[in-house]
Formats: sequence, C-alpha cells, structure tokens
Amino acid sequence: MDFALSQEQAAVRDLCRDFAREVVTPAAEELDREHKFGYDIVRQMGELGLFGLPFSEQYGGAGADFLSLCLAIEEISRADAGVGITLEAAVCLGAAPIHDFGTEEQKQAWLPDLLSGKKLWAFGLTEPHAGSDAGATKTRAELRDGEWVVNGAKQFITNCGTDSYRKLGWHSSDTHPLSFEDCRVPEANLLGTRGGGYRQFLHTLMGGRIAIAALSVGVAQACLDASLAYAKERHAFGAPISKQQSIQFKLADMAMETELARTMVHKAATAYHHGTGETSDEVRMLAAMSKLYASETSKRAADQAVQIHGGYGFMEDYPVARYWRDVKVNEIGEGTSEVQRMLIARLLGL
Ligand SMILES: Cc1cc2nc3c(=O)[nH]c(=O)nc-3n(C[C@H](O)[C@H](O)[C@H](O)COP(=O)(O)OP(=O)(O)OC[C@H]3O[C@@H](n4cnc5c(N)ncnc54)[C@H](O)[C@@H]3O)c2cc1C
Repeated sequence: MDFALSQEQAAVRDLCRDFAREVVTPAAEELDREHKFGYDIVRQMGELGLFGLPFSEQYGGAGADFLSLCLAIEEISRADAGVGITLEAAVCLGAAPIHDFGTEEQKQAWLPDLLSGKKLWAFGLTEPHAGSDAGATKTRAELRDGEWVVNGAKQFITNCGTDSYRKLGWHSSDTHPLSFEDCRVPEANLLGTRGGGYRQFLHTLMGGRIAIAALSVGVAQACLDASLAYAKERHAFGAPISKQQSIQFKLADMAMETELARTMVHKAATAYHHGTGETSDEVRMLAAMSKLYASETSKRAADQAVQIHGGYGFMEDYPVARYWRDVKVNEIGEGTSEVQRMLIARLLGL
C-alpha cells in the first residue's frame, strides 16, 4: 500500500495551491462580502484545465484520475469554498453525467466547452418538496412529436444562473431555483437510457460526495492554518495563547481530524476511480463515510477556529467567520449527514 501521491497528482496539487494562494485568496473576502461570482477566476481555472481534470483527452480533458480532481478541489476550497463548489458542481454534477452516460455525439457536442470551463452545467435533482427523498421528485418529461416536454421545478441548483437566493455562506457560488413550463428538448438530448435517470443520478452523486468531502478538508485545513498563525501571535496573560494547553489540544485535534478526513478522501477517490462504471458497495460505503466524516470535521474545525480567535473570530475582519458560515452546507448538500448515516446503516445490512 502506497500513500504517497504520484508525481502527476502532486503536480496538480501544487499548481492549484499556488493558484489558490495567488489568485483566489486575495479575492475571497470581496467575493464573500459582495456576494459576487468570480467570473475571472473561473475563466483562469478553465485555462489551467481544472474543469477537464478527470476526463478523457479525446474530449479536451486532462486524463488525470479522480484523486487529482479532489486535490484540486481541496486546494481551491482552502482559499474559498464558494469557488471550490463551483468547480466541484461543474465537474462532478455537470460534465460527469455526459461523460459517463452520453452518446459519442453528445460528448463531442457538449464536453469540449464544459471541460474548458467556457460553460458550466448544472445538476437539478432537488425540488421544492423533495430533497433527501429524491424518489419523490415531481418534474416530468413527456415525449411529444419528437420532443421531450418538461414540466416542473427544481430548487437550490448550483451553477444554473437565474433568480438568486440569499444564503448563509458560499456567497461566491451561484445557487438558483429553476422552473420548467412546457420546456421543449430535442428527443436526441436524452442522456443515458430512458427510465434510467434515477440510477444515473445516484451514480453521479457518488463522485460528488467524495468531492464534497475534499472541499470540506480544504476548509478544515484553512481553519487550522488561520488558527495556528493567530494562536502564535495573540497574547494573553503575558504569553502567546498557543502556550496554553487547552489551545494546543484544540489545534492538535483539528490537525488530526483534518488528516484523517484527507486520508479517507484519498482512499474513497482512488476506489471510485478504479470502480468507475460499476459502483460497488465498497465505493458507496467509502463515499458516504468520507462525506459524512469530512463535512462534520470541517464544521468542528470552523467552530474551534472561531473559538481560538475569541471576539475577533466573530468579526468579518478575519476569514474564520466566513469559514464558519461556509461549512454548514457541507453537511447538507449532496446528501445530508442523516442520509449518509442511513446509507452506511443500510450497507451494514440494517
Ligand atoms: C447551497 C446549496 C447548493 C445546492 N446545490 C444543489 C445542486 O446543484 N443540485 C441539486 O439537485 N441540489 C442541490 N442542493 C440541494 C441539496 O442537495 C438538498 O438541500 C439536500 O439534499 C437536502 O434536501 P432538502 O433541502 O429538501 O431537505 P429535506 O430532505 O427536506 O431534509 C430536511 C431534514 O430532514 C432530514 N431527513 C429527511 N429525510 C430523513 C430520513 N428519512 N431520516 C432522517 N432524517 C431525514 C434531513 O437530513 C434534513 O436534516 C443544494 C443545496 C444548497 C443549500
């Protein structure tokens, strides 16, 4: 068993770490404050090839593995989780279904623009009255005169750009509702097999969950970075607070849990990559566990980061306030923590 990254994986991580430090971090506070979508950052991520990382070169992808994508998402999210989710949703939820289930013609027609970041596609599963209970969705497509006629509504959809929500966090990401009234789609645009949509949705969410785990690790690492630096410079009772054992224990727990979550992501991403196509129970279990553990780790880390910063942690002058607002949704999107526990219990035979 080799836990070391390959040269290619390390190169992707380093490229994204540098890009995040030089481009995303300096913009993050303003994007958050102004609720702005980082168009220029997305354009640059497209030029770096991040949207095509795990896809075949024949469609404009980089031919890298799924772990490389997770490393990229971790590094970008360490700077701004809103930008991280933009990348995650565009790749895992927008482009992946076409790559995995599209016909050759559909892939040739749509993937090049998606893999270069010129277009971002969305994945609309959630509806106003059906989220966790995905089987209860009501949107319908009827085949009439050679066209699919779609009626229904979708809720909280990332990267779909219409009317906007006011959100607790992820201010630099785009989240919108969608509604379809006799929306006509050419018959040839059906993705995958007729009647197979639900199975395809579940397959798509598998990769998405591992990627959300990677995003969570990025924010947990950011919390640790900020807290370590602050604890060394903040003095109380004549010494840096980092000399207090209670602060040291918080930092030690954050470091340990972040590393554990990262290790789970690497294992899940590697298993998912090798099992693409047929998803085994082992991959399902790893996806659910890594998403659950990493998202809850990021929440604990953000909570402790604010605590270590004291009153300043409650102010927007320090990034930990943003991390604290951003992490909550990690436990909700792409399957809530309750849903992940249900999946794990089911896979345990319960
Ligand atoms: C910022 C943001 C971006 C999003 N992006 C997308 C996207 O791009 N595409 C998309 O399709 N969706 C997206 N979502 C939706 C997200 O996936 C759903 O919010 C999530 O799946 C939960 O569904 P819900 O909000 O309907 O909550 P509900 O399903 O109504 O759940 C409410 C609560 O009840 C619990 N619960 C429900 N059923 C059970 C049960 N059987 N046992 C125990 N507890 C249960 C849940 O865990 C939760 O705590 C996004 C959401 C947000 C906030």
